[in-house]
Amino acid sequence: LPVIALVGRPNVGKSTLFNRLTKSRDALVAEIAGLTRDRKYGEGKVGRRPFIVIDTGGISGEEEGIDEVMAQQSFQAIEEADIVFFMVDVGAGITAGDRMIADHLRRNGKSAYLIANKIDGKNPDVVLGEFYELGMGEPLAIAAAHNRGVSTLVDHVMDELLGAEFSEEEPETGYLEDEPAEEEVSHEELDVRGIKIAVVGRPNVGKSTLVNRMLGEDRVVVYDHAGTTRDSIYIPYERFGQDYTLIDTAGVRRRKNISEAAEKFSIIKTLQAIQDCHVCILVLDARTGIVEQDLHMLSFVLNSGRALVLAINKWDGMDAYDKQRVKDELDRRFDFLTFAEQHFISALHGTGVGHLYESVDKAYQSAMSKWQTNMLTRILEDAIASHQPPLIRGRRPKLRYAHQGGSNPPRIIVHGNMTNELPEDYKRYLANTFRRVLDIQGTPIRFEFRQGD
Ligand code: GDP
Repeated sequence: LPVIALVGRPNVGKSTLFNRLTKSRDALVAEIAGLTRDRKYGEGKVGRRPFIVIDTGGISGEEEGIDEVMAQQSFQAIEEADIVFFMVDVGAGITAGDRMIADHLRRNGKSAYLIANKIDGKNPDVVLGEFYELGMGEPLAIAAAHNRGVSTLVDHVMDELLGAEFSEEEPETGYLEDEPAEEEVSHEELDVRGIKIAVVGRPNVGKSTLVNRMLGEDRVVVYDHAGTTRDSIYIPYERFGQDYTLIDTAGVRRRKNISEAAEKFSIIKTLQAIQDCHVCILVLDARTGIVEQDLHMLSFVLNSGRALVLAINKWDGMDAYDKQRVKDELDRRFDFLTFAEQHFISALHGTGVGHLYESVDKAYQSAMSKWQTNMLTRILEDAIASHQPPLIRGRRPKLRYAHQGGSNPPRIIVHGNMTNELPEDYKRYLANTFRRVLDIQGTPIRFEFRQGD
């Protein structure tokens, strides 16, 4: 996924644009406190194109104390991004802070767009002129608060971005590489086989230990052609005849440079890995219990619709009382999360890792299953026969058939009339019935209802 960073002085409208960009997806917007201070990450989708947006506190150009920390965060976000949206305020004109940011971006060489916000009713020909002086090219006018110009902006940028990626793939002729070292390949070119697993979680929960354990098992054969993307290493391996590819966000298995190993935790890597995997293993730390950051990680996974297995790690050496306390806490705080299996493991000693695989395999099968329309329709009919939809204004809704609209996560689409008036608990009843009869485990299901015949 392309990553867009929003930078600019405080109050130019970054948060408003962030909300616009992430809204259409009932976005998860996670502020990962402590990990990133003022950076805010969200997944956005305008039209059909998903991307990641980073919002930053802002750079005022007069940084001291807390502002300086904020500015650092902005610079960090620029580093992480593919594209920078540099926002200025049409009403305020150019300020010293704007000049400083423009300087930084020009030196940095990132592809950056100058976004002139708060155009509102103003005449672009009159008010935009002065912004050329920043040397950032043509200002693109939007009114984030009124949602004007935003989708045009994103389309424009994505077109350019996709164009650029395409041309990169053209073979260069007459060019010899000095060192045909470990090659970075795009996701599409990776030799990925089998079940793609992402092991994610906040720092220190034991991801690296678990990854090493999973790859180090006796019955595991790790193939010698890991693929590297900008974000992660993809490690293909086999276990009991089943192919897997582990997306190693923790950088555990850097083939060449061992000193690079323990790489810094990165939310971008985590988001990319979640997006790209079939099954996500979310690692929690039994010793600390569930903390805010875990919930943010979870919200990333839930938002992606990926299959999910929970690994509650560091279960070794816990006494009975503490174990019960952790289980109670999980029941209480994850009571909404009924589809994901929980495993109590010790990555350090390898306990429970085998069972973890059983859940991963099962979740993968569920997430990727294909069902015939006549089978889904029969399940629907049986469900209706044993429990009819309630009368709505004296009429009984008629549900005609169901078909599958996609996988990972599975989408089941029910067609009928008055479907948009069906009460939630009846929809839930149908969803539960499908889940039970189809034996779907470890993955969310998307249920949709279509009106008409
Ligand atoms: P990461 O940041 O999530 O990759 O976490 P690490 O794998 O680096 O582990 C963080 C710390 O927790 C290290 O000191 C590990 O030795 C320790 N650790 C990891 N798994 C376990 C476990 O199952 N039990 C115990 N007792 N310690 C663990």
